[in-house]
Amino acid sequence: GKRIGGDRIDIYKPAMRARKTDRLTLESELRRALEREEITLLYQPIVRLEDRSVAGFEALARWDHPKMGRLSPSEFISIAEEIGLIVDLGLFALERTARQLAIWQRAVPTRVPLFASVNVSSRQLLRHDLIHDLRTVMARSGLMRGSLKLEMTESLVMENPELAAQILHRIKELGAGLALDDFGTGHSSLAYLQRFPFDTIKIDKSFVRTTAKGTRPVLLRSIIGLAHDLGMEVVAEGAETDSDAVELYQLGCEYVQGYVFGEPMPAEAARELLIGDRLA
Ligand code: C2E
Ligand code: CA
Ligand code: CA
Ligand code: CA
Repeated sequence: GKRIGGDRIDIYKPAMRARKTDRLTLESELRRALEREEITLLYQPIVRLEDRSVAGFEALARWDHPKMGRLSPSEFISIAEEIGLIVDLGLFALERTARQLAIWQRAVPTRVPLFASVNVSSRQLLRHDLIHDLRTVMARSGLMRGSLKLEMTESLVMENPELAAQILHRIKELGAGLALDDFGTGHSSLAYLQRFPFDTIKIDKSFVRTTAKGTRPVLLRSIIGLAHDLGMEVVAEGAETDSDAVELYQLGCEYVQGYVFGEPMPAEAARELLIGDRLA
């Protein structure tokens, strides 16, 4: 009766209100974060296992919040998606990464062009004119074909497979590469995913990190083998130890992205890594 109702009002309502206020505050702060240049990109090296050279980088967003400090994407990307800001954030990441990659390619020429990849979210791909943005970015950057890559997950393309396939083909025509992110976390087979023009698959870090040691090589070998049969290259995420890297190399994986070779770092540190790498 009255007591229960009273409890509800006294206990739950203020708490809900507090959470709601935090969330609204964060939303409005996030809306201003881009123009205030609080959103930055870190770059994590993707290493070619054959000779352990730096083959490329993935751009990963961070929010340097004036009071809360550095926030990771898990704390703001889903909010950015919900309020539609992900379109602006995504364009920022795309432009900034393309510009950065062009600078690295000029500063440190390599036999195989250095690549950089950027994450793309659902709203950006399926409910916004990404092709228009990408055309502008590609025209301005003067990048080598295929060296700027867009990463997207299987769940994203499966939201609207027909539309996604059309857009993905146009992205390839514009000269960008396509990587299937977090492979192994969804339910589609690689054979099905072949209808999308991905050139790379990225094996999710949960495979490398949490699969039992015994089953891990069996699973990895079959994914890597099938990807190669379908003409795709393989990046394994989440390699934290040298033995992870050695095992992945023996299983035929081309690239590794993991703490063993470097955490996400500022552009300047990435450049130094690249220069050191070329001199070595
Ligand atoms: P992701 O695309 O799967 O990126 C890889 C994540 O794995 C990164 O987390 C990276 O720091 C982490 N990682 C790399 N190597 C290791 C390792 O050896 N061990 C472990 N435990 N983790 C490793 P991060 O930077 O926190 O990003 C999380 C997610 O946020 C990304 O996952 C991506 O889905 C999303 N994200 C980041 N930046 C952007 C962006 O600009 N746009 C969009 N739409 N999403 C973004
Ligand atoms: Ca990614
Ligand atoms: Ca991933
Ligand atoms: Ca992910």
